[in-house]
Amino acid sequence: MAEWKNRTKQVHGGTRRSQYGEVSEAMFLTQGFVYDTAEQAEARFVELGEDEFIYARYGNPTVRMFEERLAAIEGAEDCFATASGMAAVNAALTSALKAGDHVVSSRALFGSCLFILETILPRFGVEVTFVDGTDLDAWRAALRPDTKAVFLETMSNPTLEVIDVKGVCDLAHEVGALVIADNVFATPVFSRALELGVDVVVYSTTKHVDGQGRCLGGAVLGTKDFIRGTLEPYLKHTGGAMSPFNAWVMLKGLETLDLRVRAQAETAQKIAEALDGHDKIAKVRYPGLSAHAQHAIAAEQMGSGGTVVSIEVTGGKDGAFRFLNALELVTISNNLGDAKSLVTHPATTTHQRLTDEQKDTLGIAPGLLRISMGLEDSDDILADLLQALNAI
Ligand SMILES: *Cc1c(COP(=O)(O)O)cnc(C)c1O
Repeated sequence: MAEWKNRTKQVHGGTRRSQYGEVSEAMFLTQGFVYDTAEQAEARFVELGEDEFIYARYGNPTVRMFEERLAAIEGAEDCFATASGMAAVNAALTSALKAGDHVVSSRALFGSCLFILETILPRFGVEVTFVDGTDLDAWRAALRPDTKAVFLETMSNPTLEVIDVKGVCDLAHEVGALVIADNVFATPVFSRALELGVDVVVYSTTKHVDGQGRCLGGAVLGTKDFIRGTLEPYLKHTGGAMSPFNAWVMLKGLETLDLRVRAQAETAQKIAEALDGHDKIAKVRYPGLSAHAQHAIAAEQMGSGGTVVSIEVTGGKDGAFRFLNALELVTISNNLGDAKSLVTHPATTTHQRLTDEQKDTLGIAPGLLRISMGLEDSDDILADLLQALNAI
């Protein structure tokens, strides 16, 4: 399996067949596992073998297939699947930190990630310093000898800033800090996170991995030492396990991940280019455009601008709402990575909680809209966006 290309790993990686020899992965919808003897039960509680399970909160064959497949794609030694992306972010941070530790984080974060770093961790005595993630000098200044971990979103939501991952990792490793990266916007298809130096990669598999808007899920990937030594003891006792049903949906999602994400990214590039310079749009934010501030980093790091395009329409909130309400194909929803094209107004939904000052700093303008490209024909998506722009 190690020599297979990613498209092949996405279809075959981690497959475990039962005694029936099924072709499609089996869904083991079971909480528990039976033991032939009392001695066998005792032995499993001492140490679990390769194909041994004791309780679905600790592990399950369908979940394990998903973990092994995703680990193979990402090039990670191991993976632990979680109930949601936020369970993954929370466990990656909390399992590695204790009171008195210092963390440096980029400030352009998904709202719930920001809540963990800004509100929850300080409550338990962890000090967090926020920096402009695109500014290496800011990282350098914030890192300290006692910095235990660094947290960043490799591409930020919703303003699509791209972080120089290798640059940040090099600085963080100089002080011995663990680099934890939320890699949702880069997707496992365009990710080179581990190669660039990231220690722990986190996904919300709710997004592109499911890819069809059905199940919540998350994953933490890293070394065997981190996943089994640090993360697993925390997760197996705190209950953030992925359900076997969701793992089965995610496994099937992985089979088509490459095809879907590349098609969505192609559409995103085409739409970004077509909308750039439109008179109802003040700014198109897309890392695939050469005018994007981190275009070169995105090209080198991901080889793509990703599947999301953010636009800032004229007319502020009123302009944004007129545009949203005039859409006929693209749907208003705060999710992303779906087969259906979805559009969000971050200032009034996902990032509503932030103060005006925070929104300002992060570039979440009243006219900003985040569009997640679906799998529809790109001509139809573009036609819908153009007709809705007329409503402004
Ligand atoms: C959606 C998202 C999350 C949270 O994932 P859930 O599966 O909704 O818990 C975390 N980080 C980023 C960047 C996301 O887009």
